[in-house]
Amino acid sequence: MQDANSHLPIAIIGAGPIGLSAAVNLLASGLEPITFESGEQVGEHLARWGHVRMFSPWSYNVDPVAAEWLTPTGWQAPRADAFPTGAELLADYLQPLAALPEIASRLHTATRVTHVSRLQHDVLRSNGREEAPFVLRVSGPDGERDVLARAVIDASGTFQCPNGIGAHGIPALGELAAAERIAYGVPDITGKARDDYAGKTVLVVGGGHSAFNALQDLVSLAEQNPDTRILWGVRSATLHNVIRSPKDDELQERRALEVRIQQWLEDGRFEVVTNLAIEAIHPQGEQGARLVVESGSQRLPAVDRIIAATGFRPDLALLSELRVSLDPATQSPARLAPLIDPNQHSCGSVPEHGAAELTHAEPGLYILGIKSYGRAPTFLMRTGYRQVKSVVAALLDPDAVIPAPVCGATRSTANQASRQCEPSCG
Ligand SMILES: Cc1cc2nc3c(=O)[nH]c(=O)nc-3n(C[C@H](O)[C@H](O)[C@H](O)COP(=O)(O)OP(=O)(O)OC[C@H]3O[C@@H](n4cnc5c(N)ncnc54)[C@H](O)[C@@H]3O)c2cc1C
Repeated sequence: MQDANSHLPIAIIGAGPIGLSAAVNLLASGLEPITFESGEQVGEHLARWGHVRMFSPWSYNVDPVAAEWLTPTGWQAPRADAFPTGAELLADYLQPLAALPEIASRLHTATRVTHVSRLQHDVLRSNGREEAPFVLRVSGPDGERDVLARAVIDASGTFQCPNGIGAHGIPALGELAAAERIAYGVPDITGKARDDYAGKTVLVVGGGHSAFNALQDLVSLAEQNPDTRILWGVRSATLHNVIRSPKDDELQERRALEVRIQQWLEDGRFEVVTNLAIEAIHPQGEQGARLVVESGSQRLPAVDRIIAATGFRPDLALLSELRVSLDPATQSPARLAPLIDPNQHSCGSVPEHGAAELTHAEPGLYILGIKSYGRAPTFLMRTGYRQVKSVVAALLDPDAVIPAPVCGATRSTANQASRQCEPSCG
């Protein structure tokens, strides 16, 4: 950290669970945060999947330092072993946290960070780079302005960038034109979006827990509207690994969902399409009201709607003038990648990690929270709170950085075995 900039605040991009955790931890350490949130309110992404019940209990979802700050205000900690919905997490934790005067006075909602750079340094220019403060271009109710910062914590999440359903990682032919009939992410099937799905033929694409959630809601809908027909498309050749969490999984709700899906699969509640590789989507019928998916030589039955539960990717454009050190496959910080790469790990444990794995060739820049996992689908909020703790310690004292432990297979360095591993969420 350069001394000449020590009077400047540490900028936080995004007031989700991890951005607000960063704010309170910085304050608790005597550092000065300034937080920007693009949504009208904090936790904008949580609000969008507010209807979903989480796998992780409250004890995983509250940052301990935030709880310490909230308790004197009369805040009642929710029952540690209960499972909140996204909306409950927002109302019972994130909003009270954001309302603390110390945080609220340093929080700018409805303010999007559109670019980050170094003062008078584009990405190419090296001379004097490390001494130059960061510049954040922010766009809010009063228009655009530039804000200087001594360090930047990007906790802007990935929910705004859902993956498409095309086989090649790019949109399938016709996908963009069919967007009105494709729901990306986690639609509120039994609530607000009910009319879009009740009595309709729906294709769910994806093999992870978001797909399981959508399938569960569709089964419930089909019980009331028997005309609802559910197709489930996965890229794999078989569906033998629906129950992938261990019996003694710490996240028992996750395993319970897997068991339910497996049972419904055996009961024939879904029409399963394996080896799905969507190359094209063709409109059919009046005003293209139905969609026909082309996968290799196969054409699926026409559907009314598609749910794309195919994960999310980080928005990297924001950081394009900075020297960001990302793994080319996972798009997570390069040193974190071997710990979380889904090519090497199934949904299991993720080693505790911190500032050492989260640094870039650009000193003072940290990508934290779910965005730090890039395209890897295994992030848990509790992991993010630990990232924050480590990064705040590094911002206070760069010599305090401790290398990560390794759980399981891929890397082995000394001093790791005793450090804790934790479950991850798929
Ligand atoms: C359906 C679903 C279920 C999940 N269940 C669990 C679970 O059970 N347990 C768990 O731990 N995790 C779960 N997750 C993962 C969960 O999303 C994360 O753990 C958590 O929300 C990550 O917090 P975050 O602060 O990193 O990112 P986010 O919650 O995504 O917050 C990012 C914030 O940044 C803001 N933002 C984005 N771009 C900008 C910008 N340019 N400028 C300013 N602000 C910006 C956004 O509006 C948002 O408020 C689930 C996710 C989904 C989708």
